[in-house]
Amino acid sequence: MNHFLSLIKPNLPEESRFYWQSVQMREEASAFMARIEGERKFVCLEIVSPSRLFDDFAGDIRKTPKGRLKICPLTHANAEALRKWFSFTRPVPFGRSGMSLGLGDRLGLASPGHLRLLAHEKNVRPVLAQQSVRELTLTERTFGDVIDAASWSVFQEGYTLGFGADGDHLKTAAEVREALTEGCSMITLDCSNEIDNSIIELSSEEITTRYLALPAAARQGWETRYLGKQFPLGTGEVHFEATDLQAIVVVYHKALAFIKEVFYSLIQPRGDVDFEISIDETLTSTTPEAHYFVAQELTREGVEFTSLAPRFCGEFQKGIDYRGDLVQFEADLKVHAEIADHFGFRLSIHSGSDKFSVFPLIGQYTHGRVHVKTAGTNWLEAVRVIAQTNPFLYRQMHAYALEHFAEAKKYYHVSTDLEQIPHLESLTDKELPILMDRDDSRQLLHISYGLLLTAKNQVGVPRFREAMFQTLNDEEEHYAQALVRHIGKHIQLLHANR
Ligand SMILES: [Zn+2]
Repeated sequence: MNHFLSLIKPNLPEESRFYWQSVQMREEASAFMARIEGERKFVCLEIVSPSRLFDDFAGDIRKTPKGRLKICPLTHANAEALRKWFSFTRPVPFGRSGMSLGLGDRLGLASPGHLRLLAHEKNVRPVLAQQSVRELTLTERTFGDVIDAASWSVFQEGYTLGFGADGDHLKTAAEVREALTEGCSMITLDCSNEIDNSIIELSSEEITTRYLALPAAARQGWETRYLGKQFPLGTGEVHFEATDLQAIVVVYHKALAFIKEVFYSLIQPRGDVDFEISIDETLTSTTPEAHYFVAQELTREGVEFTSLAPRFCGEFQKGIDYRGDLVQFEADLKVHAEIADHFGFRLSIHSGSDKFSVFPLIGQYTHGRVHVKTAGTNWLEAVRVIAQTNPFLYRQMHAYALEHFAEAKKYYHVSTDLEQIPHLESLTDKELPILMDRDDSRQLLHISYGLLLTAKNQVGVPRFREAMFQTLNDEEEHYAQALVRHIGKHIQLLHANR
């Protein structure tokens, strides 16, 4: 390394920071990441001339006594070259076994911290890129931007164990096509547009009427397959009463057709991609019968899916702990986990940020064969770092979020009570970070990420986006440590009962 250092150091500005764990040697060139004049760059050193690796990246060339050095910006074209040369920077699917964590990173700055943690938690695999179309719109990014950020981060951290990229909560075939084209290794198909939620307002006669309007042959098939039978599970069984079956069919039949169509037109032809079915955005929790029915019907149709997200009882609000009856949750989870085991797919837990009181149960009943999605909490840890290191900026952001609360609330279901949030003027700078430990202020800042990141110039303050990036880049070590601690707590609790 010393020899290497002596080759490059004299050719870069003195205050440059090197990410040593990133150094990769190839026969013809070496490559690594560095922060040069405040910005992260990919640097390439030509050893044998001409080097195809060296030529594949675009950047500024500097001659050194021993060869040529190229300093490259983290553009999309360079990210493509990176993925071509270093296979571990390409997203990969994880299949139906093991534990993985969705680590949605709205800023594109969180992955180094996540990877530092997971380098020591080798049985937990990271889905680093994980964004829904809504999140992309709110943060003005594309799937490609998000995957690029993940690729640069795994390279920077020298993480070669593989990461996933999830096109999250995709609602149409067009969105799925786009996510696959841009390189996602996982698709989460959100069936909420095809799920008939109106059923909770219907009488049983109305449900029967709707059911009877469906084609006779299809009804015959469902009734033969499900009525008068028992479906054994680990410790219990599922069976269907005629009225339950009718209701389940009315709610899910369109969703099943949609899933099948997406699978056969887009997922199967592409192959080698994780396919998650999301039925969690419903008004009521998913019953074991409904879960079993969906899994069984998809399996019968030959739809291969790797994970499924039911809606659990209680509340999985963004960025705060579980709210609900833990005894009921445990019973509910047990059956859902048994259904997943029966069919061999993984259970997926959405809105998994900060659900500390239920993680031990989740780890226990899924036997660690589970996917847990987090996103908001990674953003909130960034906000915490800002509150700790740049109180002036935090105060501006907080005030802006308060002012635009009604707008932010349109996108998320939260129970935030603004009255419970202490007035900013009553807190000293040192006290500001406590706001990130309280549910109401956490949710306020959580749901405002899109508004903050896209806010136009405020009077007398730089645009939040640039100011936040500046602070978080200056404090990159601090942010990484915060994530190691906070996501580490998630993992520790998921393993607690195992
Ligand atoms: Zn979800």
